[in-house]
Amino acid sequence: MSVTFSPATVTSGAASTLRIATSAGTAAGTYPITVQGAAGGKTHTVTYTLTVGGGTTPTTPPDVEVAQIQAHLAQLNTIAGQNGGNRRSTTAGYRASLAYVKGKLESAGFTVTEQTCASGCTAGAGNNLIAEWPKGDANSVYLFGAHLDGVSAGPGINDNGSGSAALLETALTLAKQNPAMKNRVRFAWWTDEEQGLNGSDFYARSLATTERSRIKAYYNFDMVASLNGGYFINNLNSAASAPMKEYWTSLGLAPQENVEGQGRSDDYSFQLVGVPTSGYATGASAVKSAAEAAKWGGTAGRAYDSCYHSSCDTTSNINATALDRSADGIAYTIWKTAVGDVSNPANDFSVSADPVSGTVAPGSSATVTVRTATTTGSAQSVALSASGAPSGVTVSFAPASVTSGQSSTATVQVAAGTVAGTYTLTLTGTGSVAHTTTYTLTVSGGGGETTWQLGATYAAGDVVTYNGVRYRCLQGHTAYPGWEPPNVPALWQTI
Ligand SMILES: [Zn+2]
Repeated sequence: MSVTFSPATVTSGAASTLRIATSAGTAAGTYPITVQGAAGGKTHTVTYTLTVGGGTTPTTPPDVEVAQIQAHLAQLNTIAGQNGGNRRSTTAGYRASLAYVKGKLESAGFTVTEQTCASGCTAGAGNNLIAEWPKGDANSVYLFGAHLDGVSAGPGINDNGSGSAALLETALTLAKQNPAMKNRVRFAWWTDEEQGLNGSDFYARSLATTERSRIKAYYNFDMVASLNGGYFINNLNSAASAPMKEYWTSLGLAPQENVEGQGRSDDYSFQLVGVPTSGYATGASAVKSAAEAAKWGGTAGRAYDSCYHSSCDTTSNINATALDRSADGIAYTIWKTAVGDVSNPANDFSVSADPVSGTVAPGSSATVTVRTATTTGSAQSVALSASGAPSGVTVSFAPASVTSGQSSTATVQVAAGTVAGTYTLTLTGTGSVAHTTTYTLTVSGGGGETTWQLGATYAAGDVVTYNGVRYRCLQGHTAYPGWEPPNVPALWQTI
């Protein structure tokens, strides 16, 4: 990476342009660049944060910034305050929480969907929110979830703003880093957990068998910032838990089995349908033992979270250290399971048109074979669409969606009265990414109209087309260079 200034010296009050150049092999990651100004023995600095995306270089798991997670928690706390003091699944506080998380994810490039809990949820419960990072093998999905709802007693910031916000910021960090993906990562924020694990239960039960088999593991985060907490992992010694355990062990935390949380949060919904589960928790209303206090600090004989399901579960009820360690462990697990050297390359495809151009008279049509090919990885579903057609021209595909490797027939229908001219149609195939090709359509002159020509003689009332636009001649003339219809409104009127 190289950094240059132009100019390298300025008079205070003036500006300079900083140019940062990366090379093709620069490793993906986020780098703070300190810019320093020095004069008369004084220096001032400012930081520019550069994120290098993409690349196939294996990257180390990033640090998820705890201050950003706390900013999300402050927002959830405010949302509760503005909506009667809580974020229960059936309330405006829940729906506002969902809108907040959804907005952040959409801005970051996630494919976000809301799922209505059509059965098993409390009447009036809000939706589940599902966000998929659209890279990596869609047949191998790692799902990370947290319940977004709270109880009516309070704002629910540790339970479960903490899990929700840790997951949100980790998702945003993944998007910012944009590493090469081996496998697929999906995030979920569940509704109506507090009324019986209902949102996740509906999602898990609604999965078709094939879709369920694509989910290699589900990781749950319910209360990950308990003030007097411990470090607990669901199914501590399972294969799915390995990266979660590896991270906390690397911090010397000696995590324990999450006995208190067994069967009590959304991981249970996935356990019931046979998906391997794990997750972090720092404890609810159970009491810390003397051995745990000796190991992790805190107060023995007191609940892990004394504000559990109470009005005092606010932003003051957050253990920032535990929150940070949890989010960093989620990122570590994502990187271990889904990011890395892509020995199994991401699925990709190409799109081409045959023929690439054609001439059609108004009132008739042309057909174009749109071919797709799998270029890396395995075949995928590709939806076809067209843009750039002028008024009177429609493009339809049969079929409208293909599996990469297959072809579709595009019919380009030109209505009578379509303005003569040459148009570039863009044909787009959308799968895990979008690819385009073009088809050049010439609509031949209909109705005796002609294309404007240099040197031709025109009489008032003559109609021509020029660059696809129709013009009527206002006074007789010979067409000299520079007298193209859009340049001389005295001679040509747009119609
Ligand atoms: Zn909870």
